[in-house]
Amino acid sequence: MKSESWRVGSIRVTCIPEQDRIPGMKALLPEATPDALAEIPWLRPHFVTTDGKLKASIHAFVVETEERCILVDTCIGNDKPRSYAGWNHLQGPFLTRLSDAGYPTERIDTVLCTHMHVDHVGWNTCWRNGRWVPTFPEARYLFGRMELAHWQAEIESGTSEDGLDQGQVFADSIQPVLDAGLAVFVDAPYEVCTGVRLVPTPGHTPGHVSVELRSEGAGAFITGDIMHHPCQIARPHWAASADVEPTLAMATRRQVLADVAASGELVLGSHFAAPTAGRVVRDGDSFRLLTD
Ligand SMILES: [Zn+2]
Repeated sequence: MKSESWRVGSIRVTCIPEQDRIPGMKALLPEATPDALAEIPWLRPHFVTTDGKLKASIHAFVVETEERCILVDTCIGNDKPRSYAGWNHLQGPFLTRLSDAGYPTERIDTVLCTHMHVDHVGWNTCWRNGRWVPTFPEARYLFGRMELAHWQAEIESGTSEDGLDQGQVFADSIQPVLDAGLAVFVDAPYEVCTGVRLVPTPGHTPGHVSVELRSEGAGAFITGDIMHHPCQIARPHWAASADVEPTLAMATRRQVLADVAASGELVLGSHFAAPTAGRVVRDGDSFRLLTD
C-alpha cells in the first residue's frame, strides 16, 4: 500500500492506509447490490470489483500546512480488544507508514476525529508499559463537544450495544486522552488553523464533522463517514446501516454533494479505495465522481 498525496494550494494532504478492506460492506450499504451497482458503470474498476463487490479502505489523512501538521482520523489502532477478528489485537505497520511518509509521531501537532467510531479513533492511543497512552504526546486532540457528549450519554445509559464496541473504544481510545489533558473541546464550525476548518455534517453520528481545506484559491473536502463509498455519490439516498440518524445523514450528504459539485473542489473520501480523491460533478438528477 503506497501513500497517495495531493496538493491543495500550499497544503499537502497525504493518505496513510491501515487496511485495504472493510468487513461487512454489504451489510453497511444494503441497497448496493451487485445488480444495483452494475447500473453505475463509472464505479469500476476503482471502487467496485468485476464481480460487483464494494471496495473500501481504512486510512488516515495527514494535512500539513505552513502552521500545523494535522492527523485526520486515526483508524483502528494496534493491540485493541475488538469484536471483529480482523481488528482484534491488530498488529499493523500504521506508525511505520506514517513515519515513512515523513511524519514520525512527534511531528503530529494536532489530531482530530471526524467522529468517534471504532475505525476513526484507534491510533489516538497505544499500549505502552501496561496502559493506554496518547500516541501523539506533542499533539492537542480536537474532540467535538457534541460528539463526545453523545457517546458519553449512550455509554452511561447502556444503549450503545451496536456491535461497534463503543464502550470499550471510549475507554481505550478517548478516555486516556482526556486523562492526559491533551483534549481540546470544540464546536463546529471551527477554524483549526489558516485554511483548515471543521464543518458540521451531522447524521452518521450527531456530532460528525468534515474538514474543509482552503489555500491559494484551491479547495478540498475530507468527507468523514457522511458517505462511505462513492456509490452514495450516484445514490445519495442509500443509507449506511451505521448511520445514527439516516434521514439527517441523507440530507447532509445531498447538501455536501451539491456544494462540492458547485465549487469543483477536490473530494477526499475517508473510506474510498484508491485513488481516494476526485471531483464531484452533476450527472442527471444525481452526481458522479471524476478521478484522474
Ligand atoms: Zn468509518
